[in-house]
Amino acid sequence: MTSQTPSRAQAGMAARARPEIRAMKGYVSARSLVAGGGATVFLDANESPYEPYVGASDLARYPMQQPPELMRVICDWLDLSSRNVTVMRGADEAIDCLMRAFCVPPVDNIIICPPTFAMYRQSAILQGVEVREAPLADRFALDTASVLAQCDDNTKLVFVCSPNNPTANLMDRDAILNLCAELAGRALVVVDETYIEYAGVDSIAAALESHANLVVLRTLSKSHAAAGVRCGVAVARADVSELLSKVLAPYPIPQPVVQAVMAIMAPANQVKLAEKRQDIITRRDEFAAAARDTAPVREVLPTDANYLLMIVDDADALCARAGEAGVILRNQSHQPGLANAVRVSIGTEDEMDMMLAILRGEAVSAPGEERIARHVRRTSETAISVEVNLDRKAPVRISTGVGFYDHMLDQIAKHAGFSLQLECDGDLHIDPHHTIEDCAIALGVAIRSALGDKRGVGRYGFCLPMDESLVTVALDLSGRYYLDFKGEFPADHVGDLPTDMIEHVFRSLAENLQANLHIAVEGENAHHMVEACFKGFARALRQAIRQDGAELPSTKGVL
Ligand SMILES: *Cc1c(COP(=O)(O)O)cnc(C)c1O
Repeated sequence: MTSQTPSRAQAGMAARARPEIRAMKGYVSARSLVAGGGATVFLDANESPYEPYVGASDLARYPMQQPPELMRVICDWLDLSSRNVTVMRGADEAIDCLMRAFCVPPVDNIIICPPTFAMYRQSAILQGVEVREAPLADRFALDTASVLAQCDDNTKLVFVCSPNNPTANLMDRDAILNLCAELAGRALVVVDETYIEYAGVDSIAAALESHANLVVLRTLSKSHAAAGVRCGVAVARADVSELLSKVLAPYPIPQPVVQAVMAIMAPANQVKLAEKRQDIITRRDEFAAAARDTAPVREVLPTDANYLLMIVDDADALCARAGEAGVILRNQSHQPGLANAVRVSIGTEDEMDMMLAILRGEAVSAPGEERIARHVRRTSETAISVEVNLDRKAPVRISTGVGFYDHMLDQIAKHAGFSLQLECDGDLHIDPHHTIEDCAIALGVAIRSALGDKRGVGRYGFCLPMDESLVTVALDLSGRYYLDFKGEFPADHVGDLPTDMIEHVFRSLAENLQANLHIAVEGENAHHMVEACFKGFARALRQAIRQDGAELPSTKGVL
């Protein structure tokens, strides 16, 4: 092949779209024709002037096809102009819109590079479009020669998934750009970067400037923990973006999705998500190393994503065994060249421990038998998510934004011996009170809910002296709330934790645990006294939540 001239690389790809799509006018709403945005009365779309329920906001009106505030945060994220961005219901919808905008059924064709993501083929079948295959080469690398050999005048789209699902490897950037150059003016090269955030490399989207036939797919589903939100993006030259907006539904993005995406993309949340991705990567590498040493695993393929592909001795048997323990894996053995391949997503620490136990042939306690509760609490002052597992000791991960309080909640989890993950985003710019109190409420609710019907629990806990401070804690998970707190702290703060909040914390815990709690603390050092209260409470709780048999520790028949 000869190298392409710059003019060909810049050739607009709209000319290759379906003629009827090029000829049609996209749907235009009446209000989008009014210049200046000065209109305040909208009698043009037969909407209701009322909101559908008390507290609803912006649900009565049709959203714009590309809501401007959503567009702004997505463009900031990708560092791209809105001309190059079309937001859709997931990358899946982007695949579908490309198919419908460009491929004339049944004469046109697309090329996929198996083993790869299933939706390219699904979409093509739905649109009545021929699918040609250019299988990946050695080590699942892009086989440019094979792609070009499959191409003819009716080839409209070539899908390159990078990192590829399910093989998990990143494709060579130069190979992709070379393919773009070879196919300039002829076919779009659609690079699916669903997992790019896990690969530690930049998006290829910057090459849009030099390659008019490049399209990049991004999504919040995997990297931003938001598969349920359904938000993905097609990145393309403006002429292609215009075609996509004609094919896309007039109001594809529901208003609640806009609100969710705004929360996801808030800068502070982006930092948290990046930490979570890093966590997943660390766990992935630990899991891969441990999995390699288990009997059923022949090979764990290198991965640039949040999943890995394992070649095992018997994929069907492994998936069946996992299924019995309540763990669902993706058997990829049906894909060409992937005999006995199983794809494993990287989950939580507990989940990966369970997966390893399955690989080692150890007994696994089904998650249904553990006392787990998740609780989300949201007010105008705080947003809290808490997860407890009373039958596991790890992980313990706490982030309230109040350092000393984190340390105290950590003491509760460690000394009571249960797994606690608590995150709070509170109005700390005002003061820590709401955060401290609301976290205690949420924790109380979560523990109580994890206790379930309380069969087999110790119910009571007692605790006595600690250090030079003396604390006495007595606890009864009676189902009735009562707090007796006796203690005077000789300082008004310990670190960033106000000591006048300590009684509040235990009150909120006792009330929401529906427990009877007596605490008496004496001492001279506020730090020691506060810490003694939390540790004492934790030790009492440890005895009370411990399960032994299934008997209800009450003569009344309920607790
Ligand atoms: C999961 C996945 C998608 C789907 O993304 P959505 O935005 O959820 O539609 C697209 N491409 C690949 C490679 C995927 O693995």
